[in-house]
Amino acid sequence: VITYSGRYTTLSRDQLLEKLEQQLKPSRFEHVKRVEQTAITLARQYGVDVEKASIAGLVHDYAKQRPDDDFKAAIQKYQLDADLLNWNNAIWHGVVGAELIKAELKIYDEEILDAVRYHTTGNRYMTTLAQIIYMADYIEPARDFDGVAQARLLTKQDLSLAVAYQTQHTLAYLLANNQRIYPKTIETYNAWVPDSQ
Ligand code: GDP
Ligand code: FE
Ligand code: FE
Ligand code: FE
Repeated sequence: VITYSGRYTTLSRDQLLEKLEQQLKPSRFEHVKRVEQTAITLARQYGVDVEKASIAGLVHDYAKQRPDDDFKAAIQKYQLDADLLNWNNAIWHGVVGAELIKAELKIYDEEILDAVRYHTTGNRYMTTLAQIIYMADYIEPARDFDGVAQARLLTKQDLSLAVAYQTQHTLAYLLANNQRIYPKTIETYNAWVPDSQ
């Protein structure tokens, strides 16, 4: 168990867990704790700040259970791209959720906030921390889908190949299910997938 330094949040880890438990249904609360543990392991392996990995893993779905009106209000209040109003919780909980985390949890570290912003769609540029959260969300121990074993192996062996793998498979899944593709998802695809093995 890690002890927070106070650099990124004035809350202790236990206090942060308490806030998350209030915001999330039990299954989602268990998910974020598994993402945290997966992210911590990857942070040790890839030389990333373990405290940032813990915080980002815990808060990445902080806003997942908020009503749509909270996101619409935040898009106005923080003057985010108005096109966001055309999307939904799947896209909002990361990119708009980061603003709620900043305002409500008083976490100001932009690398942590970017890891939250990009955890669903990825981004053309992702720090190692953001890549870790993107992958940890995809491979945490309770995830079970075709390809998860390959995703886990790649994440251990080569983080950027793993990001490419997830990006390709998520886009293929969305297309196969006639889902609308968020432009950043395509940007991520173009930045990470073509010409990678
Ligand atoms: P979770 O919050 O832990 O369940 O996982 P994510 O935040 O990674 O994903 C939330 C949902 O967003 C998943 O169902 C994804 O398939 C979906 N998603 C990711 N990218 C897109 C996109 O471009 N368009 C749409 N419509 N959904 C997307
Ligand atoms: Fe999420
Ligand atoms: Fe994800
Ligand atoms: Fe998640």
